[in-house]
Amino acid sequence: MTSLVIAEHDHASIRPATLNTVTAASQCGGEVHVLVAGHNAQAAAQAASQIAGVAKVIHVDGAHFAHGLAENMAGQVIAIASVYSHLLFPATASGKNIAPRVAALLDVAQISDITKVDAADTFERPIYAGNAIAIVQSLDAVKVITVRTTGFDAAASTGGAASIEVVSGVADSGKSSFVGSEIAKSDRPELTAARIIVSGGRALGSSEKFHEVLEPLADKLGAALGASRAAVDAGYAPNDWQVGQTGKIVAPQLYVAIGISGAIQHLAGMKDSKVIVAINKDGEAPIFGVADYGLEADLFAAVPELIAAL
Ligand code: FAD
Repeated sequence: MTSLVIAEHDHASIRPATLNTVTAASQCGGEVHVLVAGHNAQAAAQAASQIAGVAKVIHVDGAHFAHGLAENMAGQVIAIASVYSHLLFPATASGKNIAPRVAALLDVAQISDITKVDAADTFERPIYAGNAIAIVQSLDAVKVITVRTTGFDAAASTGGAASIEVVSGVADSGKSSFVGSEIAKSDRPELTAARIIVSGGRALGSSEKFHEVLEPLADKLGAALGASRAAVDAGYAPNDWQVGQTGKIVAPQLYVAIGISGAIQHLAGMKDSKVIVAINKDGEAPIFGVADYGLEADLFAAVPELIAAL
């Protein structure tokens, strides 16, 4: 039994989601291999070989792997899949784009968004916005899995000494091509990797207030900014800041929810945070049900006081 983790990387380094996926793979039993497919991504392959618990890195180089196009990535995974019992992808935008293609090509069921490995063929995954946990057993010969990264600790990025095997890549599928990208630039930590998140809700009332009130607090704490869907829909915060069932799933060390009611769809994205602080003027707000520290107060008074105290 050997598992293959499909690495996410920026050609120079390995993205954190890969480390959580390695942990999930190691719990499936047997050896863990990592596929690094990219263009001039030797540094990323080198970094993957240092991950604790990884036995082998498969490195594939080609210009058509430069942008992680799902059609090419799926073809590459299929080309080497026959020796693996488990194929694991982080449940990120990229992993969720590639894994279903691989599962379909192998004619097996995908096991999505796992949060726990019970046995090599049995996994746990949240359903109904995290209100219930399904235990899923797969009889397929190959398990194609996406991993909810917040469910697993990150493997240590150093300490490993895996061999690197360079294999020739499959040809360009020709089904898609890379046109361009517009990447949002921010000095703040990336939401899903941040240790601290300051998140705002509808109560902020406007885009100006959202930034004026929350940014100084985030600056003080070195935090990423997040938002409820109501705040995003109202245009107070950009789409990629949304936390929740239809946004990002986060589990930082500290999550500060400000003017957020705590609807189940929001909780689904943040309730696994290590420490939750809520500021809300309604003492009955459901967010207080999951908060470790709750402050029943008007945020427009409480947040500046908090910043001054910090
Ligand atoms: P509200 O529910 O309006 O809460 C505002 C809160 O601010 C209230 O609790 C109020 O007491 C408090 N408040 C008001 N003024 C102040 C003040 N001055 N000081 C302090 N507190 C104050 N939501 C998400 O967040 N993420 C998702 O991914 C998501 N996905 C969804 C998917 C589906 C299919 C559906 C149906 C809904 C989804 N929602 C999601 C929406 C969710 O149901 C809620 O509508 C949303 O989370 C509410 O956002 P909010 O807490 O900012 O707003």
